[in-house]
Formats: sequence, C-alpha cells, structure tokens
Amino acid sequence: MAEIRRDVKPVEINYLCDKCEKGMVIKLERDVTDEKNHQCVICGEGYHFTGKGYPRIVYAPVE
Ligand SMILES: [Zn+2]
Repeated sequence: MAEIRRDVKPVEINYLCDKCEKGMVIKLERDVTDEKNHQCVICGEGYHFTGKGYPRIVYAPVE
C-alpha cells in the first residue's frame, strides 16, 4: 500500500443558540454527564451534548 496525500482545509463547526439565535455555544470546562456542558456566550442558555463538543474543527478535502 502506497502512502498518499491530499490537501485538506480546516472547517470550524459551531452551534448557534436556539434561544437567542445570536450566540455561539461553547464547551464548558467541566464535562459532567448529566449536566449542561455547553453554554451560550450571549444569553447563557445551557446545553448538553454527548460525544461531541462545540466549537470543533474537522478537515474537509480541498476541491
Ligand atoms: Zn443564546
């Protein structure tokens, strides 16, 4: 199997607050399973996400 390479670009994935629809949700330091582990930076609304965090970076192939 030969080594192959391709160019990728980083893509940031954010979650926009459902309540105020203006703020981005960020991951809190604590990561408690049953509690809110994300918070809106503007209105402070709490969110709970499991298995993924916001914001996060993924790599997408360059067209
Ligand atoms: Zn908000």
